[in-house]
Amino acid sequence: MTAQIIDGKAFAATVRGQVADHVARLKSDHGITPGLAVVLVGEDPASQVYVRSKGKMTVEVGMTSYEHKLDVDTDEADLLALIDRLNADPAVHGILVQLPLPGHLDEALVINAIDPAKDVDGFHISNVGLLATGQKAMVPCTPLGCLMMLREHHGSLSGMTAVVVGRSNIVGKPMAQLLLGDSCTVTIAHSRTKDIQEVTRRADIVVAAVGRPEMVTGDWIKPGATVIDVGINRIDAPEKGTNADGSVKTRLVGDCHFDSCAEVAGAITPVPGGVGPMTIACLLANTLTACCRANGLAEPE
Ligand code: NDP
Repeated sequence: MTAQIIDGKAFAATVRGQVADHVARLKSDHGITPGLAVVLVGEDPASQVYVRSKGKMTVEVGMTSYEHKLDVDTDEADLLALIDRLNADPAVHGILVQLPLPGHLDEALVINAIDPAKDVDGFHISNVGLLATGQKAMVPCTPLGCLMMLREHHGSLSGMTAVVVGRSNIVGKPMAQLLLGDSCTVTIAHSRTKDIQEVTRRADIVVAAVGRPEMVTGDWIKPGATVIDVGINRIDAPEKGTNADGSVKTRLVGDCHFDSCAEVAGAITPVPGGVGPMTIACLLANTLTACCRANGLAEPE
C-alpha cells in the first residue's frame, strides 16, 4: 500500500475537543449552553443508532441534547407544530430532523419549516442557495467534514481537479459547491456519466458518494490522487462466520475498494473511521456556530 491514511476518527476527536473548549467558554463567560434538538419519526434501526450516537456526543461536548421521538404514523401537522415550537425556543440553537422520514410526510416541506438559522444539517432551501452563491450558510455536515479533511491534508486546494461521484442534495451537490468555493476545477459524475473511469482518472481529488459497495477501484484513480470515501455499505462477510440465528455476519465497506485504491492513491479515507466520525463532529460545530450567531458572538474559526 502506498497511500497515506487520512484518519477521520482522530481528526473528528480533535474537532470535538475544540468545540467542547468553546462551549465551556460560552458557559463561563456568557452563561450560554448550546442546545441541539433531534427529531426522529418512526423506528428505523439505522436512524435510531445515528440519533443515539448524536445525542451522546452532544452531551460529551457540553451541549444540551433534546430528543423528540415520534410515532411512525405522526401527522404532518403535528410534526410541523413541533418544529414551530423548536424554532421559537431560545434554548434550542440547532434542529435536525433525521432522514429518511416515513413516506406519508413531505420531506422538503418539513425541512423548509425549520428556521434556516437553526438548520444545522444545511438542507433548508435558503442555506442551499446561500452556499451556492458563496454567502454565509449552514453547510451540510458530511461534505463539510470531507472539505475539512482535504484542507487539513493539502492546505490550499486552489487549482486542483476534483471529481465528485454522486449528485445527491445531501452529499454530492454541496460537496461540489464547497470544492468550487475552494477554487477546485470540479466535475460531478453520476449514473449516466460515460466512461466514468476516464473522468475520475483525471482528478487530483476523488470524492465517492454513491451508495454502491466498493464500486471505485484502483484503476479509476490517478497515481497520487486523494480519495475521500463517503459510502457506508453493509455487506455479507462469510469469512467472519455466522450469528447465533444462523445469519451470515456482515461488515462495513465504502464506495471505494480500499485495497486497490490505496495501492494507487496518495491518500485515502478508510471506512469506517473516515468521513463518518467527521459528519457528527461537523454537526456539533454547526450547532456551536448557530448558537454564537443567535447570541451575536464571534463565531468559531
Ligand atoms: P443517493 O442514493 O442519494 O445518491 C447516490 C448518487 O450516486 C446518485 O447521484 C447516483 O446517480 C449516483 N450513482 C448511483 N449509481 C452510480 C453508478 N453506477 N455510477 C455513478 N454514479 C452512480 O446517496 P447519498 O448521496 O445519500 O449517499 C451516498 C453514500 O454515502 C451512501 O453509501 C450513504 O450511506 C453514504 N453517506 C454517508 C454519510 C456519512 O456520514 N459518512 C452521510 C450520508 C451518506 P443518479 O443521480 O444518476 O441516480
